[in-house]
Amino acid sequence: MRIARFAGDDDPQFGVIGDEDGVATIGVLRGDPLYAGLDLSGQKVPLDDVRLLAPVIPRSKVVCVGKNYLRHAAEMGGEVPDEPLIFLKPNTSVIGPGEPILYPGQSSEVHYEGELAVVIGRICREISAADAEKVIFGYTVGNDVTARDLQAKDGQWTRAKGFDTFCPLGPWIETSLDPSDLAVTTMLQGETKQDGRTSDMVFSVPDIVEYVSSFMTLLPGDVILTGTPDGVGPMEVGDTVDVTIEGIGTLTNRVLARG
Ligand code: MG
Repeated sequence: MRIARFAGDDDPQFGVIGDEDGVATIGVLRGDPLYAGLDLSGQKVPLDDVRLLAPVIPRSKVVCVGKNYLRHAAEMGGEVPDEPLIFLKPNTSVIGPGEPILYPGQSSEVHYEGELAVVIGRICREISAADAEKVIFGYTVGNDVTARDLQAKDGQWTRAKGFDTFCPLGPWIETSLDPSDLAVTTMLQGETKQDGRTSDMVFSVPDIVEYVSSFMTLLPGDVILTGTPDGVGPMEVGDTVDVTIEGIGTLTNRVLARG
């Protein structure tokens, strides 16, 4: 099932993506399904008539895994760590599909990083890898936008990874998906830059949930970005970046100058 969040008449609304006589629709839900369950209102709207928003706004955190693909670790001049390398992005960095990534004046090297994003469905801690599936609400597409120059300059990654608009998520959450072997591709200006598979992850999704929840309580709506394949590179103002994950869809954003 695909769950989207979209701009409603007043507040954002949630809905289930479906099909009505060959036309993609959204079956409108009452409330946020993370907290209210799947409560269909009966109202349906054509998907093309709505503006999709980030399918989840993390109430507390976006947890990220660094260097989780062998060839990406190598292109960054490092080795794969023995344990998952974890960092955070602030929830204020999240934007939705079609929203602009704002290129900050403090950086002159802003990179895309296409990643599978895990959406946590319930409060949990110390979850074993075998039980990870029980706490996962679904999966979406993420772009771990990174100011590569500031990442090197600062010695830690909070500023480089934490600018407003540096965490595009979307276009929706797929709730039924095996994350173990999915194609992850990133295109910049229509040219393929990243072409990996989640089967190349050093630490699998269940491994990551076990590791993170061993030291940090996870809350409904928390997002885990699971690392990026090789092929990262710079984006320029005016560029369009598409991240596609097999079985989910394509997340598209344009880069604009931060005013
Ligand atoms: Mg990353």
